[in-house]
Amino acid sequence: MTTPTRLRRTSIVAVVIFYVVATIVARRRGYSGLGGRTLVRCFEGHLFRTLWIPGVSLKSIRLGWYRFQFCPVGRHWTMVKPVRESDVADEIGAMDLLARDLAVP
Ligand SMILES: [Zn+2]
Repeated sequence: MTTPTRLRRTSIVAVVIFYVVATIVARRRGYSGLGGRTLVRCFEGHLFRTLWIPGVSLKSIRLGWYRFQFCPVGRHWTMVKPVRESDVADEIGAMDLLARDLAVP
């Protein structure tokens, strides 16, 4: 017999497994840093790293693959999207000069 408590616990486990799998899949596709410091680009083209943990977000509004958050480079609120490190390899050289985002997901 399934109690409501057990059902809720099962749902939480299912959600956690979903996000873990989604993170692994995204990493295999070249989006390194998902679940940690992820390379993202805002809609105005600024490149920066932010703490991106799939399913966890305290300082931004999640909209699927995109997030609405503050861009520390242009100092504006915008939509950001993870980018493949290999797609921006020539720009990564300057990454260490870029502003760091807050270490809050
Ligand atoms: Zn920006």
